[in-house]
Amino acid sequence: MNSANYHPIIVLGAGMSGLAAASLLSQSGCSPLVLDKARGVGGRMSRRRTEWGPIDHGASFFQARHPLFQKQVDAWLQQGLVFSWSRGFSDESGHRRESGVPCYACSEGMNAVLKDLARGLDIHTRQKVQRVCGVQDQWQLETEGGETYRTDALLMTAPVPQSLELLNQGKVSLDDSHRSALASIDYEPCLALMVVTSQKSPLPEDGGLWLSGEPLSWIADQSRKTGSENAISRLVLHAGPDFSRTHWDEDPEKVTEEILKAADPWLAGERLSVQYHRWRYKTPLKVFPEPCLKAHAKPALFLAGDGFQRSGVEGAYLSGRAAAQALLS
Ligand SMILES: Cc1cc2nc3c(=O)[nH]c(=O)nc-3n(C[C@H](O)[C@H](O)[C@H](O)COP(=O)(O)OP(=O)(O)OC[C@H]3O[C@@H](n4cnc5c(N)ncnc54)[C@H](O)[C@@H]3O)c2cc1C
Repeated sequence: MNSANYHPIIVLGAGMSGLAAASLLSQSGCSPLVLDKARGVGGRMSRRRTEWGPIDHGASFFQARHPLFQKQVDAWLQQGLVFSWSRGFSDESGHRRESGVPCYACSEGMNAVLKDLARGLDIHTRQKVQRVCGVQDQWQLETEGGETYRTDALLMTAPVPQSLELLNQGKVSLDDSHRSALASIDYEPCLALMVVTSQKSPLPEDGGLWLSGEPLSWIADQSRKTGSENAISRLVLHAGPDFSRTHWDEDPEKVTEEILKAADPWLAGERLSVQYHRWRYKTPLKVFPEPCLKAHAKPALFLAGDGFQRSGVEGAYLSGRAAAQALLS
């Protein structure tokens, strides 16, 4: 083993929960290493580049109901990283679904807030971990590319089924009640299209629309987030969970056509670009009852993420913070 790959604390995942945890650990004097399989930070708050500008293809907005997350959002508001996009969106019948609290977004892409949390952190991207196992009172993480990392304290923040799979691969034993609670956490899938059109979409003025759920559940126009005067629309189309499950393994071209057909009333002008993405884990159908799980004391093993206590971006942030606090205590 390369001794340079020993780190006292490793955080697996550079999404909202992993970075919320790592930034708190770093502020508290620790130097966690963050590993992620993707090319950059963001996880399910990533954006997809197009010739006409980025499109958020995961979360389009988030809300803050807990004072701890609101404090963080207030800081981002002050820095100009986020803005209050709306307080709800209309559905197809024109009925407005008020959220009661602001729906926050980032004009240049949702990962802007993650880049803020990531500042100063040691992050290794393109490191897909294949297996986590216990070796000599430490955790060993083995990547697809043949790297090996060792740590005394591991925080795993991938969607719960993915974290469980990594532990299973390394034959890590878990308390039976923890294992069965974690194994029962499943997620809604979501097939998504990113579509750029040459004309302004006839969406409501704020640029977001709830649909019946099947085949489409949500459409948003990124151009309206930037306040762009440009006629071009940069749309994300999210298919509903039933449609996504049924068509998951089908030919992407065929599924793309079906989604475009359903979205036709909201697409204006020429289609300049169409991209397809499959989100296996959109949101958990149920959550673990605690904000994080301490699965092992020594070496320390914690699990966190949006599958813990509260789903969504806010839940991921709170879970990551809770896990970092627990690691520090
Ligand atoms: C289509 C869609 C729409 C959504 N809409 C909303 C919304 O409107 N509002 C809202 O609040 N929430 C929404 N969500 C949910 C929200 O995006 C998530 O709850 C939140 O981003 C989860 O953050 P996380 O850090 O827990 O997980 P993730 O963002 O999934 O981060 C986990 C990270 O772990 C990495 N990883 C996984 N496995 C490995 C491995 N083996 N090796 C290395 N790295 C690994 C991943 O690359 C990822 O970066 C949406 C999600 C999707 C997909």
